[in-house]
Amino acid sequence: MEDLKPYFFRRNELSVERGCVLWGQRVIIPTVYRDSLLGRLHEGHPGVCQMKGLSRSYLWWPGLDKEIEKHVAECVACSSVRNTPGVAPLQPWPWPAQPRERIHIDYAEKEGVYFLVITDSHSKWLEIFPTTSMTTSRTLQLLRQVFTTYGLPKEVVSDNGPHFTAEEFQVFMMKNGVKHTKVAPYHPASNGAAERSVQILKKALDKQKIDGRQKGLPLKHRVANFLLKYRSTPHSVTGVSPAQLFLKREIRTTLSLVKPSQADHMAEQQQRQKEQHDKRHRMPLHILLHNQPVQVRSNRMGKEKWMRGVVVAQKGSRHYLVRVGNTIRYVHIDHIVAVGHSQLGDSLPEDEQPLMPGKSTPKEEPPVWPDPRLPPAAGARTLPPPLVMPPSGTPLQHEIEGGTRRDGDPPSEVRVPDQPPNSEMAIASPVRRYPTRHRVAPVKFKDFVTE
Ligand SMILES: [Zn+2]
Repeated sequence: MEDLKPYFFRRNELSVERGCVLWGQRVIIPTVYRDSLLGRLHEGHPGVCQMKGLSRSYLWWPGLDKEIEKHVAECVACSSVRNTPGVAPLQPWPWPAQPRERIHIDYAEKEGVYFLVITDSHSKWLEIFPTTSMTTSRTLQLLRQVFTTYGLPKEVVSDNGPHFTAEEFQVFMMKNGVKHTKVAPYHPASNGAAERSVQILKKALDKQKIDGRQKGLPLKHRVANFLLKYRSTPHSVTGVSPAQLFLKREIRTTLSLVKPSQADHMAEQQQRQKEQHDKRHRMPLHILLHNQPVQVRSNRMGKEKWMRGVVVAQKGSRHYLVRVGNTIRYVHIDHIVAVGHSQLGDSLPEDEQPLMPGKSTPKEEPPVWPDPRLPPAAGARTLPPPLVMPPSGTPLQHEIEGGTRRDGDPPSEVRVPDQPPNSEMAIASPVRRYPTRHRVAPVKFKDFVTE
């Protein structure tokens, strides 16, 4: 009974969303997952305040804050670096209203590698570039990369390191309209924001070296891990994550997986609806009817072209004989599109259009076709499909689609099947006729035609 009290006190703020119990916007974590999530919260070894801050946006269970304190106190990596010199005092720079108004840059050295550390003063967003050289040209190369991505800052603050005071550096800043502020000599701490970031980075790398899971990872990998955690954790000065202030949104991390995502839920739902709809409404593309007007793909001399024709007979499950002009073509189903089942007809060039038997009747409603998969309605007359016979005397040519018939080869003659209506053929249906579409450009476009 006693352990239900924390929930009882919050009973008016509890809700259920997709199987998760929430307190406010925080997911209430079942007991079995609490340990592993504590580990998640402590990834990268943030301090107690940061962990509590992070947990406020994601999760809760009774006694969480106490458990966080205990977890940090028991962490070997954290306790072994706890007594390193404290962070540099924060210099009272004015807080810029926007990201990228003022950035602080500095170099750090750790494990034999240099790091260019760039801090955005507004959001506390960090960029860290491991590098083997600290020359001016290398520094400018890295800064250029950052400026390309996020735009030019108004002001850059640095110490008096030779790489920042070289003429090349000054010229670069001047040319790009960036104010370069150098902090007073011998007072490196006045570049407080940069100093602080350097301390944070060094501490994180120290902890990673002690942490068994991170120990073996390459340096760049560890820096990336640190940055993702840092950028998504509420900052102690601003109270929100650097990502929120810099990108105006929270970035997705493994902790985001804890929360039921409404957007993901909606996307799944829509996908399911689409699949069901498609299943119900899919056109019977693979049952082509006798006399069905179609377009067949021809691939002559590497040029793709769609031609209108009429289905004459089905050959096996995948092939059809299609009459195109005076030619009977043997075509794979993949190279046939039933007219009316696609928009291809609309985009055909004008000279491809008039293959329909001359009787285009505008405004005529397309006839409703019986679904060949359905049994005919009682009383409906089913007529055997009238086979289209070629006009006598007209030699029919037979082409294998995609075949490599050379010009010299005599065209093999093909007889249009004269056996009684093929049992494979679907029931007869009226020829579907659509009005041929003629597009006439409006007069007003005449001015723009360059001929
Ligand atoms: Zn730790």
